[in-house]
Amino acid sequence: MTPSPHVLAARRHWVFDLDGTLTVAVHDFAAIRRALGIRADEDILAHIAALPAHEADAKRAWLLGHEHALAQASRPADGAVNLVRLLAARGCRLGILTRNLRELALLSLEAIGLADCFDPADVLGREDAPPKPDPAGLHRLAGHWAVEPARLAMVGDYAYDLACARAAGAQAVLVSLPRNPWPDLADWHFTDCGTLAAALGTTAG
Ligand SMILES: [Mg+2]
Repeated sequence: MTPSPHVLAARRHWVFDLDGTLTVAVHDFAAIRRALGIRADEDILAHIAALPAHEADAKRAWLLGHEHALAQASRPADGAVNLVRLLAARGCRLGILTRNLRELALLSLEAIGLADCFDPADVLGREDAPPKPDPAGLHRLAGHWAVEPARLAMVGDYAYDLACARAAGAQAVLVSLPRNPWPDLADWHFTDCGTLAAALGTTAG
């Protein structure tokens, strides 16, 4: 059963994942592994962490430069600009909770033309909170906004985003996938931000 969009449209506090949710996912992990000489079955960050310090520093610096370039080249996901502008125009509080670095998240928001919709204090990167699915980031944003975490809507494209929402008692909104692989975790599913915006746009907010 799908609940009425009025329940979502009444939300005044929205938190978004960034990569793959507001932006088109562009990380080419195979290319990163090739450039850094990391085997396909190895975790990139774990590989780097196990290296001697001078080698680890060099690879981290390369990775940061690479991610910086990707962030600057970010493109908005379908409907993302409309959705965020619709919510901002309604006076909603908007935040970002990402496993990316905060500095890169701010750069990505700038690149897709949405930086003005977010207070930088409400953009949380991987250095600001334990990574999703830990709900600590949502608790922190709810604290900034002086609302209960259960009043939030969390929008993302992956199970961690939904599990994080669940753990905070927030509405879990899945976007950017044609079908919902996590029916037990998602309260809502929209194929992209545009269809979510359309559902909200036809409902008094
Ligand atoms: Mg994502």
